[in-house]
Parts: sequence; C-alpha cells; structure tokens
Amino acid sequence: MSEVHDLPEGREIGRVVGDAPGPTLIVIAGIHGNERAGVGAVRRALATLTRRQGRVMGEIVAFAGNLGAMRLGVRYRERDMNRVWTEARVADLEARAAAGGELDVEDHEQLELIGAVRAAIARARGPVYLVDLHTTSAHGLPFILFGDTLKQRKFAGVIPLPLVMGLEEQVDGALTAFFTTQGCVTFCVEGGQHDDAGSVDNLEAVVLLAAESAGVFGSGLLTETGAAYALLERRRGDLPRVMEVVSRHAITPDDAFVMEPGFANLARARAGQLLATKRAGKVRAPKDGIVLLPLYQGQGNDGFFWGREVGAARMRLSEVLRHMKVDRLLHLLPGIARDPAQPSKLVVDERATRLYHRDLFHLLGYRRVRSEAERLTLERQIDRAPG
Ligand SMILES: [Zn+2]
Repeated sequence: MSEVHDLPEGREIGRVVGDAPGPTLIVIAGIHGNERAGVGAVRRALATLTRRQGRVMGEIVAFAGNLGAMRLGVRYRERDMNRVWTEARVADLEARAAAGGELDVEDHEQLELIGAVRAAIARARGPVYLVDLHTTSAHGLPFILFGDTLKQRKFAGVIPLPLVMGLEEQVDGALTAFFTTQGCVTFCVEGGQHDDAGSVDNLEAVVLLAAESAGVFGSGLLTETGAAYALLERRRGDLPRVMEVVSRHAITPDDAFVMEPGFANLARARAGQLLATKRAGKVRAPKDGIVLLPLYQGQGNDGFFWGREVGAARMRLSEVLRHMKVDRLLHLLPGIARDPAQPSKLVVDERATRLYHRDLFHLLGYRRVRSEAERLTLERQIDRAPG
C-alpha cells in the first residue's frame, strides 16, 4: 500500500555525485501523483550508489514530478503532467511566467521541474540521460517505452524487460520526448501495479541498470546490477524482448467498446482471436501479434494498441538503414516532402501514401503518423547534441 515515506519532501529526492567527471543520469518519479513506487525505488537505488560512491563517475539525481498531486495521492489536479511537454507549450509557459501571467498548480510544478532538470543539464560533466518512472492501475508485467532513436535503443536495450517502440510517439507532450529534444537520451518505464511492493523492486532494478547503461560506474559490473538484471529477466516471462506498435484501435463513446477480459498490459494474441466487441461487431486479431494497453476501465479514445514482435534481424536492418542515412533520400520520392520548418517531419500527399509500405517509415524511425487534411505527416525523434 502507499505509505507516507513514499512522499518526497521537496523537488529533489536526492543525488550522488562522483569525484570523477562522467555522465549524468536524471530520474523522475511521480510525474503522475498516484504513482509513488518510483520514489521508494529511487531512494533505494541512491542508497546503493552512496555505498558505491567510489565507483560513481558523473552524477545521478532524482526529482519528484508532481509534488502537489503526490501529496493528495491523485494522478493530477488540473491536468496530466505527462501531456504538457511540447516545445510550443513549454515556450508559452515560460513566456507567461516571465510576464507575470496567471499560472495554475501544475504550471508551477512544471516550471519548477524544468528549472531543476535544466540546472542538472547545465552542471553535467558528460552526456545526460533521463529516465521517467511510472506504474499502472492494472496488474501487468513491467515494460519500457522510448522514442525510437539509435541512442535510445542502445540506452534502454541493456534492460531485459520488454521494449516497446512506437508507443511514446502515439501521445503528444510526453516528458521523455521533450527532454530528447533537449539533448538527453531517455526512456520511460511502467514498473507494475501502483501499490504492488514488487513494482518498487522492479523500478529500483531499472534505475541501477540505467545507471550502468549510462556509464555511471565506468567499466566493470557491480554485484547489485547483476541481481537487478536477473530480477527483470525473470519478470519478462515469455514476452518478446522487443515489440513495436503497428496501429492504434481508436474508439468513440458511440462504439460501445468492450474489451474481452483476460488481456494483460502486454499480451500475445492469435490470428482470429476475439479481442473486443463493439456495436458494429466483433473485433478480432488480424494475425498473430500483441495487444498493448487494453482499455478496461474509465474513458479513453484508445481501445487498445496492436503490435508485433521485432526480431533481431529487423532491429539490425533498421540500424543499418539509419547509419546509411537512407532517410535523407525519402523526400526525393513522389508525393513526399520534408517540412522546411521541421526537418524531422515528412509530409506525404494522401494519394501517395498507398505507394509506400508503412514499414519503410517505421524502419527509419518515423513512428508518429498523423492525418492532417489531405495529407499524412510522419515524424520521428532524433538524437541531438545537448545544448
Ligand atoms: Zn504514469
């Protein structure tokens, strides 16, 4: 159960600074106020790192996400703090704050958090990594999601939990996506059910392995990270190591959508299996694949996401294509143009979309697909130098 000691006293939960320069790992816990397992987890990881301070290079620092909501034990008060991180919105917030404009509770939380993270980036003595810790209302296995860049694949790839690509890109304004644009290498983890003591263990293990992946311990392994690896490897069960979102099953209240019972957060489904029932009929799995984040409670526009396993060969293929910078040629294809204001964005004429298999774009990291008027826009995250 949630306990009082899960409450941080202030924005900074703690930090360990090595004498030698090295990478910075920033950990965010409780950006959703009812997800406090991350606080206990990062405190334990910081205690381990304090004992191992002689091995620490650079810095690890942890911040509370939505302090006010954490004190109340609610997800948020005015608005979801994991949907407010677009570059435009952050610029608007900072302009309003500078002009002495009106700010609500979560505006204040966000400003304080940005300030803390920016200060950590400014004093960094090496590359900056950021991990955002979450838990879920439903029971289910822990998993990792991240924007599909090569640096982020490498950072998250050492953690033996299922890695989900293409999910972060389905939402607007995720914290990790924003800090990727600020030069950080990031991932987000769902550690298990909110009040399950096992979720604290899972997230603690993730923080230790993230520190190791970032290079906080230099070369060589710690016994603590060996145990963390073994724990998460067991947790993964028979789920594939890497999977990707292929499509989103969008719903409206009129659909009277009812998910079939029994699906976990990530669950395999066989071709033809009944997934859900709607007023218009039954929804069946189009082929063998994976159901992600099925909607069982409350409201939402996402019935579920449909995904599939990504094998090692496909991972390598997309890596090779990106190293060859094949994406630089995409705008030469008929019907495809690069957005002049935003080089990471492609605009595909609607009539041209059927010429190209979506796979091509996925392989190159374009996972954010939006229909706008007569065209399709495709965006991807890109590795950036800090600054
Ligand atoms: Zn969350």
